[in-house]
Amino acid sequence: MNRLRLRTDQDFLKAWVVSKRVPFPACSQVGKGDAVIGVIDAPQKSRYRKRRSDLTISRRDPDHMTAKYSGIDGYVGNTPLIRLRRVSELTGCEILGKAEFMNPAGSVKDRAAYGIITDAEAAGRLKPGATIVEGTAGNTGIGLAVIGRARGYRAVIVIPNNQSPEKMHLLRTLGAEVKAVPEKPYKDPENYNHIARRLAEERGWFWANQFDNTANRDAHYRSTGPEIWKQTEGKVSSFVAAVGTGGTLAGVSSYLKEQNPKIQIVCSDPYGAAMWSWFTNGNLETNDGDSIAEGIGQGRVTKNIEGIEVDRAYRIPDQSGLTIVYHLLREEGLFLGLSSGINVAGAVRFAKESGPGQTIVTVLCDSGHKYQSTLFNRDWLASNHLDPDLPLESILGS
Ligand code: PMP
Repeated sequence: MNRLRLRTDQDFLKAWVVSKRVPFPACSQVGKGDAVIGVIDAPQKSRYRKRRSDLTISRRDPDHMTAKYSGIDGYVGNTPLIRLRRVSELTGCEILGKAEFMNPAGSVKDRAAYGIITDAEAAGRLKPGATIVEGTAGNTGIGLAVIGRARGYRAVIVIPNNQSPEKMHLLRTLGAEVKAVPEKPYKDPENYNHIARRLAEERGWFWANQFDNTANRDAHYRSTGPEIWKQTEGKVSSFVAAVGTGGTLAGVSSYLKEQNPKIQIVCSDPYGAAMWSWFTNGNLETNDGDSIAEGIGQGRVTKNIEGIEVDRAYRIPDQSGLTIVYHLLREEGLFLGLSSGINVAGAVRFAKESGPGQTIVTVLCDSGHKYQSTLFNRDWLASNHLDPDLPLESILGS
C-alpha cells in the first residue's frame, strides 16, 4: 500500500480532492478509485478537522448578515476588501479593492441611490408610491430602479440615446421607465440632466440629482469610509478613486482624513476629464484626449466635489486600465469594468511613486457584465486601438 504523509495544507487538500468515494473527514483512508494512496492518522485527522472548521464561505461581516432580517435594500454596503495579489507583490504594498460590484444592484452607485432615497424620505420629500426621476447613463439608474422598487417607488430614467441598447433594456427589465433623449453638452438646456430636473418640476416628481445632491457623498462618508477604516484596522495609508459625480472620492476622503490627516487621497482621472487639472492646477482644462470608460470623467466641480482635499491626481490612459482589467480577470478571477481598472492603475502608480510598505485602498466599481459587447469584444477593442493582451508589467512604468 502506498503511504502518503500529509504534512502541508496542500497535501490535505489533495487528499480531499482525490477522495471520490468516501469523504475524508468521515474515514481514515483516502482513496482514488481502488488504489489507496494515503492513510491519515488520528492527530492528522483532528488537525484537518480544525482547519476545516476555520474555513468560512463568506467573508462578509456575519453580525451584519444575521443581526436582523431585511429586504435587499438593507444589504447595500459592507462589501469585502479584496487583496489584489500580483500588484501587491510587484509593488511591495498591500493594494486592496473594495468590492462594490457585490452590492445588490451591482455597483458603487447603490450606496448613492440608497443614501439619496433615505435622505429624501427623512426630509419628507419622498412619499410612499412616489416617482424618482434621474438623468443617468447607467449605474445610478440601475441602483435607483432596484432600491426604489424594494422601497415602493417608481423610477424614470432620462438617458442619452447614444448609450448601449443593453443598458436601456436592463433598466426597462428592472422596472424603470426609460426616456432616451439626444446627447447634448451640459451647458445646453436639452442636456439629459436638465430634462430630468424639468420633469421633476413639472410633474411633482423627486429629482435624485446625484451630481449636486450631497446626500450622495454623505452616503460614502457614513458607510464606505468607516468600512475601509475598520477593515484595514486603521492601517489604510492611501485611498485612490476616479470621479464620476465625485461622491465616492469626497465621502471616503473626508472620513479618512478625519481619522488620520496623513492618509493620502489620490484621484485617478481618465483622459478627457477635468479633475486632474482641477486637483493639480486649479483649472478645468481638458484639451488632452478622450476615454471610453463609462461612469467616470467629470468636466465641472460638482457640489459633491466642492471643498475636498486631494493630495495627488493622475491621468490614466485607457490602455493601462484595460491591461489591469484583463490581468485581474485572467489571474485573480475578478470580472470588472474599466473604471475599476483605472482605479487600480492609479493605485499601482501611487505605490510605485511612494515606495513599498503602504496599505492602498481603491474601488472595484462594477462588474464586467455590462461591457460584454465593448471591453470584452476583441473587434470593438481593436477599433478603439486597445490591446487586451499586454503584460501587466507593461503598466508598471506608466
Ligand atoms: N465607476 C462607475 C462604473 C460608475 O458608474 C461610477 C458612477 N458614475 C463611478 C465609477 C464613479 O463614482 P462617483 O459617482 O461616486 O464618483
